[in-house]
Amino acid sequence: MIISPSKLKLRGRFLFLQDIVESNSNINIMDINFSGKRALLRVDFNVPLNKENFSVTDDTRIRRALPTITHILEEGGSIILMSHLGRPMKKLKEDGSIDKEKFTLKHIVPCLVDLLGVEVKFCDETVGEKATEMAANLKRGQVMLLENTRFNEGEKTGDPEFAQALAALADVYVNDAFGTAHREHASTTTVANYFDEEHKCFGELLENELKNAAKVTNNPERPFVAIVGGAKVSDKMLLLDRLLDQVDTLIVGGGMAYTFMKAQGGQIGNSLCEEDRMELANDLVTKARKKGVNLLLPSDSVVADGFSNDANTRIAPSNMIEDGWMGLDIGVYAQNEFTNNIRSAKTILWNGPMGVFEMSNFANGTKLVAQAVAEATKSGGAFSLIGGGDSVAAINQLGLSKQVSYVSTGGGAMLELLEGKELPGVKAMGEGKLES
Ligand code: AMP
Repeated sequence: MIISPSKLKLRGRFLFLQDIVESNSNINIMDINFSGKRALLRVDFNVPLNKENFSVTDDTRIRRALPTITHILEEGGSIILMSHLGRPMKKLKEDGSIDKEKFTLKHIVPCLVDLLGVEVKFCDETVGEKATEMAANLKRGQVMLLENTRFNEGEKTGDPEFAQALAALADVYVNDAFGTAHREHASTTTVANYFDEEHKCFGELLENELKNAAKVTNNPERPFVAIVGGAKVSDKMLLLDRLLDQVDTLIVGGGMAYTFMKAQGGQIGNSLCEEDRMELANDLVTKARKKGVNLLLPSDSVVADGFSNDANTRIAPSNMIEDGWMGLDIGVYAQNEFTNNIRSAKTILWNGPMGVFEMSNFANGTKLVAQAVAEATKSGGAFSLIGGGDSVAAINQLGLSKQVSYVSTGGGAMLELLEGKELPGVKAMGEGKLES
Protein backbone atom coordinates (compact mmCIF):
# COMPACT_ATOMS: atom_id res chain seq x y z
CA MET A 1 0.00 0.00 0.00
CA ILE A 2 1.29 3.43 -0.87
CA ILE A 3 0.61 6.14 1.68
CA SER A 4 -0.54 9.51 0.45
CA PRO A 5 1.65 12.58 1.10
CA SER A 6 -0.98 14.02 3.47
CA LYS A 7 -0.93 10.85 5.55
CA LEU A 8 2.84 10.87 5.61
CA LYS A 9 2.73 14.42 6.91
CA LEU A 10 0.40 13.29 9.64
CA ARG A 11 2.70 10.36 10.39
CA GLY A 12 5.54 12.82 10.94
CA ARG A 13 3.60 14.13 13.92
CA PHE A 14 3.77 10.71 15.53
CA LEU A 15 7.41 11.30 16.23
CA PHE A 16 6.32 13.18 19.33
CA LEU A 17 5.48 11.12 22.37
CA GLN A 18 2.48 13.21 23.30
CA ASP A 19 1.03 12.83 19.84
CA ILE A 20 1.57 9.09 19.80
CA VAL A 21 -0.24 8.76 23.08
CA GLU A 22 -3.00 11.28 22.57
CA SER A 23 -3.91 10.66 18.97
CA ASN A 24 -6.53 8.11 18.06
CA SER A 25 -4.20 6.79 15.44
CA ASN A 26 -4.52 3.41 13.85
CA ILE A 27 -1.40 2.19 15.59
CA ASN A 28 -3.51 1.07 18.53
CA ILE A 29 -3.79 -2.70 18.97
CA MET A 30 -7.55 -2.39 19.61
CA ASP A 31 -8.05 -1.05 16.09
CA ILE A 32 -6.64 -4.12 14.38
CA ASN A 33 -8.81 -7.15 13.77
CA PHE A 34 -6.56 -10.15 14.30
CA SER A 35 -9.17 -12.72 13.40
CA GLY A 36 -7.63 -15.25 11.00
CA LYS A 37 -4.43 -13.21 10.82
CA ARG A 38 -0.85 -14.21 11.58
CA ALA A 39 0.82 -11.66 13.83
CA LEU A 40 4.58 -11.30 13.99
CA LEU A 41 5.00 -10.23 17.60
CA ARG A 42 8.34 -8.82 18.80
CA VAL A 43 8.59 -9.37 22.53
CA ASP A 44 11.40 -8.96 25.02
CA PHE A 45 12.08 -12.48 26.27
CA ASN A 46 15.65 -11.64 27.17
CA VAL A 47 15.22 -13.21 30.60
CA PRO A 48 17.83 -14.40 33.11
CA LEU A 49 18.48 -18.15 33.03
CA ASN A 50 19.85 -20.59 35.57
CA LYS A 51 23.46 -21.33 34.52
CA GLU A 52 23.19 -25.09 35.08
CA ASN A 53 19.84 -26.13 33.62
CA PHE A 54 18.91 -22.94 31.69
CA SER A 55 15.55 -22.58 33.41
CA VAL A 56 14.06 -19.08 33.65
CA THR A 57 14.96 -17.46 36.99
CA ASP A 58 12.89 -14.28 36.60
CA ASP A 59 9.79 -14.45 34.36
CA THR A 60 8.73 -10.79 34.75
CA ARG A 61 9.36 -9.96 31.09
CA ILE A 62 7.37 -12.96 29.89
CA ARG A 63 4.48 -12.11 32.21
CA ARG A 64 4.43 -8.51 30.98
CA ALA A 65 4.02 -9.74 27.38
CA LEU A 66 1.01 -11.94 28.19
CA PRO A 67 -1.78 -9.34 27.76
CA THR A 68 -0.83 -8.72 24.13
CA ILE A 69 -0.42 -12.42 23.36
CA THR A 70 -3.77 -13.23 24.95
CA HIS A 71 -5.51 -10.37 23.16
CA ILE A 72 -4.39 -11.57 19.74
CA LEU A 73 -5.27 -15.20 20.46
CA GLU A 74 -8.68 -14.30 21.88
CA GLU A 75 -9.48 -12.40 18.71
CA GLY A 76 -8.78 -15.52 16.68
CA GLY A 77 -5.31 -14.66 15.45
CA SER A 78 -2.18 -16.76 15.50
CA ILE A 79 1.22 -15.59 16.69
CA ILE A 80 4.80 -15.83 15.53
CA LEU A 81 6.82 -14.73 18.53
CA MET A 82 10.33 -13.37 18.13
CA SER A 83 12.89 -12.07 20.59
CA HIS A 84 16.59 -11.88 21.27
CA LEU A 85 18.26 -13.63 24.19
CA GLY A 86 21.63 -12.49 25.51
CA ARG A 87 24.54 -11.50 23.31
CA PRO A 88 25.41 -14.60 21.30
CA MET A 89 27.60 -12.72 18.80
CA LYS A 90 29.71 -11.28 21.61
CA LYS A 91 30.18 -14.66 23.28
CA LEU A 92 31.13 -16.94 20.41
CA LYS A 93 32.57 -20.40 21.04
CA GLU A 94 36.32 -20.99 20.70
CA ASP A 95 35.88 -22.15 17.10
CA GLY A 96 34.10 -18.88 16.30
CA SER A 97 30.62 -20.37 16.03
CA ILE A 98 27.50 -19.29 17.92
CA ASP A 99 26.90 -21.07 21.23
CA LYS A 100 23.41 -22.18 20.28
CA GLU A 101 23.04 -24.48 23.25
CA LYS A 102 23.49 -21.57 25.62
CA PHE A 103 21.57 -18.89 23.77
CA THR A 104 18.69 -20.79 22.19
CA LEU A 105 15.25 -19.37 22.94
CA LYS A 106 14.04 -22.95 23.33
CA HIS A 107 15.07 -22.61 26.99
CA ILE A 108 12.12 -20.34 27.68
CA VAL A 109 9.44 -22.54 26.07
CA PRO A 110 8.47 -24.50 29.25
CA CYS A 111 8.07 -21.28 31.23
CA LEU A 112 6.07 -19.62 28.43
CA VAL A 113 3.78 -22.63 28.09
CA ASP A 114 3.23 -22.66 31.86
CA LEU A 115 2.27 -18.99 31.93
CA LEU A 116 0.25 -18.96 28.74
CA GLY A 117 -1.48 -22.30 29.06
CA VAL A 118 -1.30 -23.09 25.34
CA GLU A 119 1.14 -25.12 23.28
CA VAL A 120 4.08 -23.18 21.82
CA LYS A 121 5.74 -24.63 18.72
CA PHE A 122 9.45 -23.87 18.63
CA CYS A 123 11.18 -23.21 15.31
CA ASP A 124 14.94 -23.70 15.44
CA GLU A 125 15.61 -21.02 12.87
CA THR A 126 14.56 -17.36 12.72
CA VAL A 127 13.95 -17.18 8.99
CA GLY A 128 14.17 -19.81 6.26
CA GLU A 129 12.17 -22.64 4.77
CA LYS A 130 11.22 -24.22 8.07
CA ALA A 131 10.09 -20.92 9.59
CA THR A 132 8.09 -20.12 6.46
CA GLU A 133 6.38 -23.50 6.47
CA MET A 134 5.59 -23.46 10.18
CA ALA A 135 4.22 -19.92 9.95
CA ALA A 136 2.09 -20.79 6.91
CA ASN A 137 0.57 -23.76 8.75
CA LEU A 138 -0.37 -21.83 11.89
CA LYS A 139 -4.05 -22.06 12.73
CA ARG A 140 -6.20 -19.65 14.73
CA GLY A 141 -5.15 -19.57 18.36
CA GLN A 142 -1.77 -21.21 17.72
CA VAL A 143 1.59 -19.84 18.81
CA MET A 144 5.08 -20.43 17.50
CA LEU A 145 8.40 -19.06 18.71
CA LEU A 146 11.27 -18.28 16.35
CA GLU A 147 14.88 -18.91 17.30
CA ASN A 148 16.94 -16.07 18.84
CA THR A 149 16.92 -13.12 16.42
CA ARG A 150 20.54 -12.40 17.34
CA PHE A 151 21.71 -15.66 15.79
CA ASN A 152 21.43 -13.69 12.54
CA GLU A 153 24.12 -11.20 11.51
CA GLY A 154 21.45 -8.93 10.07
CA GLU A 155 19.62 -8.38 13.37
CA LYS A 156 21.89 -5.80 14.93
CA THR A 157 22.74 -4.12 11.64
CA GLY A 158 19.05 -3.65 10.91
CA ASP A 159 19.52 -5.53 7.64
CA PRO A 160 16.57 -4.92 5.26
CA GLU A 161 16.83 -8.37 3.69
CA PHE A 162 16.56 -10.13 7.04
CA ALA A 163 13.75 -7.80 8.10
CA GLN A 164 11.85 -8.45 4.90
CA ALA A 165 12.19 -12.21 5.39
CA LEU A 166 10.73 -11.82 8.90
CA ALA A 167 7.92 -9.62 7.60
CA ALA A 168 7.04 -12.23 4.96
CA LEU A 169 6.06 -14.67 7.73
CA ALA A 170 3.03 -12.68 8.85
CA ASP A 171 0.11 -10.40 8.00
CA VAL A 172 0.53 -7.96 10.90
CA TYR A 173 3.54 -6.71 12.88
CA VAL A 174 3.14 -5.99 16.59
CA ASN A 175 5.99 -4.51 18.60
CA ASP A 176 5.73 -5.09 22.33
CA ALA A 177 9.46 -5.10 23.10
CA PHE A 178 9.87 -1.78 24.90
CA GLY A 179 13.22 -2.88 26.37
CA THR A 180 14.76 -2.87 22.88
CA ALA A 181 12.74 -0.06 21.29
CA HIS A 182 15.84 2.17 21.46
CA ARG A 183 17.74 -0.24 19.19
CA GLU A 184 17.67 0.14 15.43
CA HIS A 185 17.63 -3.61 14.88
CA ALA A 186 15.93 -5.62 12.14
CA SER A 187 13.25 -7.16 14.37
CA THR A 188 12.53 -3.99 16.36
CA THR A 189 12.72 -1.31 13.70
CA THR A 190 13.48 -2.24 10.08
CA VAL A 191 10.76 -4.90 9.94
CA ALA A 192 8.08 -2.26 10.55
CA ASN A 193 8.96 -0.71 7.19
CA TYR A 194 7.44 -3.72 5.45
CA PHE A 195 3.93 -3.27 6.86
CA ASP A 196 1.49 -0.50 6.06
CA GLU A 197 -0.35 1.57 8.65
CA GLU A 198 -3.27 -0.85 8.96
CA HIS A 199 -1.00 -3.77 9.62
CA LYS A 200 1.34 -2.67 12.39
CA CYS A 201 0.83 -1.54 15.94
CA PHE A 202 2.36 -1.36 19.40
CA GLY A 203 1.57 -4.12 21.85
CA GLU A 204 -0.17 -3.29 25.11
CA LEU A 205 3.06 -3.23 27.12
CA LEU A 206 4.88 -0.87 24.78
CA GLU A 207 1.87 1.41 24.58
CA ASN A 208 1.61 1.47 28.37
CA GLU A 209 5.28 2.34 28.71
CA LEU A 210 4.80 5.30 26.37
CA LYS A 211 1.64 6.45 28.13
CA ASN A 212 3.25 6.30 31.55
CA ALA A 213 6.39 8.08 30.41
CA ALA A 214 4.14 10.78 28.95
CA LYS A 215 2.53 11.31 32.35
CA VAL A 216 5.81 12.65 33.66
CA THR A 217 7.00 14.41 30.53
CA ASN A 218 3.76 16.11 29.46
CA ASN A 219 2.16 18.53 31.91
CA PRO A 220 2.90 16.58 35.09
CA GLU A 221 0.88 17.41 38.15
CA ARG A 222 2.98 19.54 40.52
CA PRO A 223 5.05 19.39 42.58
CA PHE A 224 7.09 17.14 40.29
CA VAL A 225 9.99 15.52 42.13
CA ALA A 226 12.63 13.50 40.25
CA ILE A 227 15.08 11.29 42.09
CA VAL A 228 18.18 10.30 40.17
CA GLY A 229 20.87 8.04 41.60
CA GLY A 230 23.28 5.33 40.58
CA ALA A 231 26.98 5.18 39.99
CA LYS A 232 27.87 7.70 37.31
CA VAL A 233 26.91 11.22 36.30
CA SER A 234 28.11 10.45 32.78
CA ASP A 235 25.33 7.88 32.27
CA LYS A 236 22.57 10.28 33.31
CA MET A 237 23.93 13.63 32.22
CA LEU A 238 21.31 14.18 29.54
CA LEU A 239 18.51 13.06 31.84
CA LEU A 240 19.58 15.47 34.59
CA ASP A 241 19.82 18.35 32.14
CA ARG A 242 16.41 17.60 30.66
CA LEU A 243 14.78 17.16 34.06
CA LEU A 244 15.92 20.61 35.13
CA ASP A 245 13.55 21.99 32.48
CA GLN A 246 10.64 20.04 33.92
CA VAL A 247 10.82 19.39 37.65
CA ASP A 248 10.24 21.41 40.80
CA THR A 249 12.70 19.38 42.84
CA LEU A 250 15.62 17.30 41.60
CA ILE A 251 17.11 14.90 44.12
CA VAL A 252 20.55 13.55 43.24
CA GLY A 253 21.86 10.62 45.29
CA GLY A 254 24.10 7.60 44.87
CA GLY A 255 27.71 7.64 43.70
CA MET A 256 27.06 10.43 41.21
CA ALA A 257 26.40 12.93 44.00
CA TYR A 258 30.10 13.01 44.96
CA THR A 259 31.15 14.44 41.59
CA PHE A 260 28.80 17.34 42.40
CA MET A 261 30.23 17.61 45.93
CA LYS A 262 33.81 17.78 44.70
CA ALA A 263 32.91 20.22 41.92
CA GLN A 264 31.41 22.49 44.59
CA GLY A 265 34.72 22.45 46.48
CA GLY A 266 33.96 19.57 48.86
CA GLN A 267 36.34 16.92 50.15
CA ILE A 268 35.05 13.48 49.18
CA GLY A 269 37.85 11.09 50.22
CA ASN A 270 37.77 7.93 48.14
CA SER A 271 34.14 8.31 47.00
CA LEU A 272 33.27 7.82 43.34
CA CYS A 273 34.16 10.85 41.26
CA GLU A 274 34.26 11.59 37.56
CA GLU A 275 36.77 14.45 37.39
CA ASP A 276 35.95 15.09 33.74
CA ARG A 277 32.29 15.70 34.60
CA MET A 278 32.87 18.21 37.39
CA GLU A 279 32.39 21.19 35.10
CA LEU A 280 29.15 19.71 33.87
CA ALA A 281 28.02 19.13 37.44
CA ASN A 282 28.63 22.81 38.18
CA ASP A 283 26.73 23.78 35.04
CA LEU A 284 23.78 21.74 36.26
CA VAL A 285 23.91 23.46 39.66
CA THR A 286 23.91 26.84 37.92
CA LYS A 287 21.05 25.84 35.64
CA ALA A 288 19.00 24.68 38.63
CA ARG A 289 19.56 28.01 40.35
CA LYS A 290 18.54 29.98 37.24
CA LYS A 291 15.44 27.87 36.72
CA GLY A 292 14.43 28.01 40.37
CA VAL A 293 14.63 24.21 40.67
CA ASN A 294 15.21 22.88 44.17
CA LEU A 295 18.34 20.76 43.57
CA LEU A 296 19.00 18.50 46.55
CA LEU A 297 22.29 16.71 47.10
CA PRO A 298 22.83 14.45 50.13
CA SER A 299 24.23 16.73 52.82
CA ASP A 300 25.47 13.73 54.79
CA SER A 301 26.54 10.21 53.88
CA VAL A 302 27.12 6.80 55.34
CA VAL A 303 30.88 6.52 54.76
CA ALA A 304 32.94 3.33 54.87
CA ASP A 305 36.67 2.56 55.02
CA GLY A 306 36.34 0.02 52.20
CA PHE A 307 33.97 -1.06 49.43
CA SER A 308 32.60 -3.93 51.46
CA ASN A 309 29.64 -4.77 53.63
CA ASP A 310 32.12 -5.60 56.41
CA ALA A 311 33.88 -2.24 56.28
CA ASN A 312 33.76 0.15 59.26
CA THR A 313 31.11 2.81 58.80
CA ARG A 314 30.12 6.19 60.20
CA ILE A 315 28.07 9.24 59.20
CA ALA A 316 29.90 12.25 57.76
CA PRO A 317 29.00 15.48 55.94
CA SER A 318 29.17 14.60 52.22
CA ASN A 319 31.60 17.46 51.57
CA MET A 320 33.97 16.52 54.41
CA ILE A 321 34.85 12.88 53.80
CA GLU A 322 38.37 11.96 54.89
CA ASP A 323 40.87 10.17 52.66
CA GLY A 324 40.52 6.41 53.02
CA TRP A 325 36.74 6.73 53.43
CA MET A 326 34.04 6.68 50.78
CA GLY A 327 30.35 7.62 50.66
CA LEU A 328 28.29 4.49 49.99
CA ASP A 329 24.81 5.64 51.07
CA ILE A 330 22.96 8.83 51.92
CA GLY A 331 23.10 9.85 55.61
CA VAL A 332 20.30 10.38 58.12
CA TYR A 333 19.79 14.10 57.44
CA ALA A 334 19.67 13.47 53.68
CA GLN A 335 17.23 10.60 54.18
CA ASN A 336 14.84 12.92 56.01
CA GLU A 337 15.21 15.79 53.58
CA PHE A 338 14.74 13.55 50.53
CA THR A 339 11.78 11.59 51.88
CA ASN A 340 9.99 14.75 53.09
CA ASN A 341 10.19 16.19 49.60
CA ILE A 342 9.05 12.93 48.02
CA ARG A 343 6.05 12.68 50.34
CA SER A 344 4.71 16.06 49.23
CA ALA A 345 5.09 15.32 45.50
CA LYS A 346 2.23 14.79 43.06
CA THR A 347 4.43 13.41 40.28
CA ILE A 348 7.50 11.30 40.98
CA LEU A 349 10.14 9.88 38.69
CA TRP A 350 12.80 7.63 40.21
CA ASN A 351 15.84 6.35 38.36
CA GLY A 352 18.84 4.92 40.21
CA PRO A 353 19.61 3.83 43.79
CA MET A 354 20.73 6.17 46.56
CA GLY A 355 23.67 3.96 47.56
CA VAL A 356 25.23 0.55 47.13
CA PHE A 357 21.91 -1.11 47.91
CA GLU A 358 23.24 -4.56 47.01
CA MET A 359 25.10 -4.47 50.34
CA SER A 360 22.74 -4.47 53.32
CA ASN A 361 24.72 -1.85 55.27
CA PHE A 362 24.29 0.66 52.44
CA ALA A 363 20.72 -0.14 51.39
CA ASN A 364 18.86 1.99 53.90
CA GLY A 365 18.73 5.23 51.87
CA THR A 366 17.33 3.42 48.83
CA LYS A 367 14.84 1.56 51.00
CA LEU A 368 13.55 4.74 52.67
CA VAL A 369 13.25 6.52 49.33
CA ALA A 370 11.30 3.52 47.93
CA GLN A 371 8.97 3.57 50.94
CA ALA A 372 8.43 7.32 50.60
CA VAL A 373 7.57 6.91 46.90
CA ALA A 374 5.07 4.16 47.79
CA GLU A 375 3.58 6.32 50.55
CA ALA A 376 3.23 9.38 48.31
CA THR A 377 1.46 7.19 45.75
CA LYS A 378 -0.88 5.55 48.22
CA SER A 379 -1.68 8.31 50.68
CA GLY A 380 -0.84 11.41 48.64
CA GLY A 381 -2.35 10.26 45.34
CA ALA A 382 0.87 10.94 43.47
CA PHE A 383 1.71 9.39 40.14
CA SER A 384 5.01 7.53 40.49
CA LEU A 385 7.11 6.09 37.70
CA ILE A 386 10.05 3.84 38.46
CA GLY A 387 12.08 4.49 35.39
CA GLY A 388 14.15 1.41 34.75
CA GLY A 389 17.47 -0.10 35.77
CA ASP A 390 18.57 -0.65 39.35
CA SER A 391 15.72 1.27 40.97
CA VAL A 392 13.41 -1.38 39.50
CA ALA A 393 15.57 -4.09 41.09
CA ALA A 394 15.43 -2.16 44.38
CA ILE A 395 11.65 -1.69 44.36
CA ASN A 396 11.14 -5.38 43.51
CA GLN A 397 13.59 -6.48 46.18
CA LEU A 398 11.63 -4.44 48.73
CA GLY A 399 8.33 -5.91 47.59
CA LEU A 400 6.94 -2.44 46.81
CA SER A 401 6.41 -2.74 43.06
CA LYS A 402 2.61 -2.98 43.43
CA GLN A 403 2.53 0.15 45.58
CA VAL A 404 3.86 2.52 42.94
CA SER A 405 2.02 3.65 39.83
CA TYR A 406 4.21 2.13 37.14
CA VAL A 407 7.43 0.11 36.99
CA SER A 408 9.08 0.32 33.59
CA THR A 409 10.49 -2.78 31.89
CA GLY A 410 13.06 -0.85 29.88
CA GLY A 411 16.26 0.55 31.38
CA GLY A 412 18.02 2.10 28.41
CA ALA A 413 14.81 2.63 26.45
CA MET A 414 13.09 4.49 29.30
CA LEU A 415 16.20 6.58 29.91
CA GLU A 416 16.29 7.63 26.26
CA LEU A 417 12.58 8.38 26.25
CA LEU A 418 12.90 10.58 29.33
CA GLU A 419 15.93 12.28 27.79
CA GLY A 420 13.56 13.37 25.02
CA LYS A 421 15.06 11.10 22.38
CA GLU A 422 13.08 9.46 19.63
CA LEU A 423 13.11 5.66 19.95
CA PRO A 424 13.73 4.04 16.54
CA GLY A 425 11.30 1.21 17.31
CA VAL A 426 8.57 3.76 18.07
CA LYS A 427 9.38 6.02 15.15
CA ALA A 428 9.26 3.12 12.66
CA MET A 429 5.64 2.44 13.63
CA GLY A 430 4.61 5.90 12.56
CA GLU A 431 6.18 5.65 9.15
CA GLY A 432 4.72 4.41 5.93
CA LYS A 433 5.46 1.16 4.20
CA LEU A 434 8.50 0.92 1.97
CA GLU A 435 7.66 0.06 -1.58
CA SER A 436 9.34 -3.22 -2.30
P1 AMP B 1 23.37 2.85 37.64
O1 AMP B 1 23.47 1.58 36.83
O2 AMP B 1 24.16 3.99 37.12
O3 AMP B 1 21.95 3.20 37.99
O4 AMP B 1 24.10 2.52 38.99
C1 AMP B 1 23.66 1.55 39.86
C2 AMP B 1 24.83 1.14 40.70
O5 AMP B 1 25.32 2.27 41.39
C3 AMP B 1 24.46 0.12 41.74
O6 AMP B 1 25.12 -1.08 41.45
C4 AMP B 1 24.96 0.73 43.04
O7 AMP B 1 25.64 -0.18 43.85
C5 AMP B 1 25.91 1.80 42.56
N1 AMP B 1 26.08 2.88 43.52
C6 AMP B 1 25.10 3.61 44.09
N2 AMP B 1 25.61 4.47 44.98
C7 AMP B 1 26.94 4.29 44.98
C8 AMP B 1 28.01 4.86 45.71
N3 AMP B 1 27.80 5.84 46.60
N4 AMP B 1 29.26 4.42 45.45
C9 AMP B 1 29.47 3.45 44.55
N5 AMP B 1 28.50 2.85 43.83
C10 AMP B 1 27.24 3.26 44.04
